[in-house]
Amino acid sequence: MRAALELLAHEPSEWKPLAGGTDLMVLFEAGKLSHKKFLSIWKLPELKGIEVTPAHVTLGALTTYTEIQKHPVLQAEFPLLCRAAQETGGVATQNRGTLGGNIVNASPAADSPPALLVYDAELELVSAQGSRWVPYNGFHTGYKTMNLRPDELLRSIRLARATSGWRQYYRKVGTRRAQAISKVCFAAAASLDRGRIRDVRIALGSVAPTVLRCAKTEGTLRGQPLAPAVSDAARKFLAAEIAPIDDVRSTAAYRLRVAQNLLEEFLQTLR
Ligand SMILES: Cc1cc2nc3c(=O)[nH]c(=O)nc-3n(C[C@H](O)[C@H](O)[C@H](O)COP(=O)(O)OP(=O)(O)OC[C@H]3O[C@@H](n4cnc5c(N)ncnc54)[C@H](O)[C@@H]3O)c2cc1C
Repeated sequence: MRAALELLAHEPSEWKPLAGGTDLMVLFEAGKLSHKKFLSIWKLPELKGIEVTPAHVTLGALTTYTEIQKHPVLQAEFPLLCRAAQETGGVATQNRGTLGGNIVNASPAADSPPALLVYDAELELVSAQGSRWVPYNGFHTGYKTMNLRPDELLRSIRLARATSGWRQYYRKVGTRRAQAISKVCFAAAASLDRGRIRDVRIALGSVAPTVLRCAKTEGTLRGQPLAPAVSDAARKFLAAEIAPIDDVRSTAAYRLRVAQNLLEEFLQTLR
């Protein structure tokens, strides 16, 4: 990894890291990449593996969707990430596509990021100068822009093992199962206390320039009973918080309606 980081430090922006290539090769074939130099990171051992400690699960950036789905601790404690991995492309894409690539590709329609937002994931970024940890929430600063320097690699993604007692929910709405880009992607989790929502986390994809954690909607639900009037209020907050657009895959009105319906469905699963 040291040699790779020195190359990036020496000529930042010249080299494009290439992981599984499932996003980059499509752009390359379409002639949409300005880079002339590609740095394959596929075999760097420091970016591989899933490490489990009592407090955290830490996934190397090169962890593939297939590896995510097979991991017993992820299956038991982080089902939203496993569901996202299952719904990402077909088997070939799942064998080759990486979680790190999904994050850095920074598509607002990507399927894993909403799950990572719900889990309050943290990212480890490394450069020749050292490493730093940043919260994933806020990493994407706008459409396809992020808090990652050209001399840095994403090394790992850390999840706190604090999901015990949570009720978790994930839905990807797209044209065709697994091969289509999301029209709306919804991930959420809640803990309950005697019929009331003690804590709740809600994140969506494809409804704004970045994937979005919906803090205001969460705020209106926290401490509330599981009553229809509470759902109605939350639907209104969600509508104010997201900013879906019309594009080739869907319309803003459809995305808003689906996002609200998925919120409703999530809340119904808690009753
Ligand atoms: C047929 C097909 C279906 C797909 N379906 C879905 C889908 O349903 N849902 C979905 O979310 N995505 C989908 N994708 C997109 C893609 O598979 C994922 O985004 C995948 O996770 C990208 O990972 P990768 O390793 O292939 O990234 P690459 O293509 O290698 O890289 C993507 C970007 O990330 C950067 N990068 C990669 N790793 C690092 C790192 N460790 N540090 C710094 N920069 C890095 C690269 O420089 C590049 O900018 C699909 C793609 C294809 C071709």
